[in-house]
Amino acid sequence: MDRNRRIAIEIIALVFLATALYFFVSAKDKSVGSIGRVDVDSGMHEVMGTFARVVAVAADSNTAKKCIEASFAEIKNVEKLMNYHKSDSEISELNRDGFKRAVKVSKSTYETIEKSIKFSKLSGGAFDVTVGPLVDLWHSAEEENSTPTDAELQQARSKVGYDKLILDGNEESIRFATEGMKVDLGGIAKGYAIDEAVKAMQKGGAVGGMVDIGGEIRCFGSPPAGQNIWRIGLQDPAVAKDVMNTSKPLLILRLTDAAVATSGDYHRFVTIGGKRYSHIVDPESGHSSENLASVTIICPSAIDADALSTAVAVMSKEKGLALIEQMPGVEAILITPAPEFKQIQTAGAEKFIER
Ligand code: ADP
Ligand code: MG
Repeated sequence: MDRNRRIAIEIIALVFLATALYFFVSAKDKSVGSIGRVDVDSGMHEVMGTFARVVAVAADSNTAKKCIEASFAEIKNVEKLMNYHKSDSEISELNRDGFKRAVKVSKSTYETIEKSIKFSKLSGGAFDVTVGPLVDLWHSAEEENSTPTDAELQQARSKVGYDKLILDGNEESIRFATEGMKVDLGGIAKGYAIDEAVKAMQKGGAVGGMVDIGGEIRCFGSPPAGQNIWRIGLQDPAVAKDVMNTSKPLLILRLTDAAVATSGDYHRFVTIGGKRYSHIVDPESGHSSENLASVTIICPSAIDADALSTAVAVMSKEKGLALIEQMPGVEAILITPAPEFKQIQTAGAEKFIER
């Protein structure tokens, strides 16, 4: 492997290690045994613009390995369909032709977009997968090293709006009402992929498992040998520069069957004039969202956790917390921006935090 490529991979690996959430094993669990079960850890694999890791717990290692293979096949399929940056993905076809004609898409893409619209309505438009033109604008602003002008923001905003998506449920096709619209599933696709990967593992006979894509995690059933529960560390945004995650996590979540996602500006952001701007944009103002340092959502499905963490990151802390508080089975832990880094959470979140 040439030297530059090796260095690039090492840098990506460091970024992966620094994801906001990570599977956490400590020596104190080591006494717990699990008879008649083996666990296999895939290690990190580069996929969906980040790294993914799958752990499968099964009666034998052959079953566990097959479950890992099946879950990666699902993740790669979602990447193939929904990758914003690859010209041969279904999403790119939609973004090219969506205004000219109704584009027929796979069941997976259709359902993900349908679900996105549900979260747009629920969050009063804070979550909106039609933010593509704004995301593009902020990326070119980074290249030019100057923030977008009001006119540019206005121009991009005129092409944003989930209400401009025209869905045909019979055909499973999508059309754009406005020219120049673009769908970016970056705030929800990883969650969808995790749920599909978990389904594949359960179908394949795993009695437990964990799927982690870029620090978004879902776990189910038996944890690996030596542990009595799945423990997920939440990185402290105040020490987020610690790329190796060597410092103490802010807290550890104890989960059985649950998904957890964190949105924050830790590791994905654009830098313009030395200032960091979150990669999450407020569809209404067009500006990058700076309301919260991080938002962690815990709930049964990864797609919901993914979309809701992005949604709440755009909303004010009061409105975001109120939204999650009224959703049964969903909990949130919010960290306010620097320098306070104050932790606020829904009433039911405490039961998941290790004390
Ligand atoms: P991460 O990719 O770090 O897991 P998120 O799940 O919060 O973070 O997703 C952020 C991505 O979602 C952005 O990179 C962009 O592609 C997309 N996005 C940005 N703003 C919004 C928004 N308001 N609604 C929906 N998607 C968004
Ligand atoms: Mg998200």
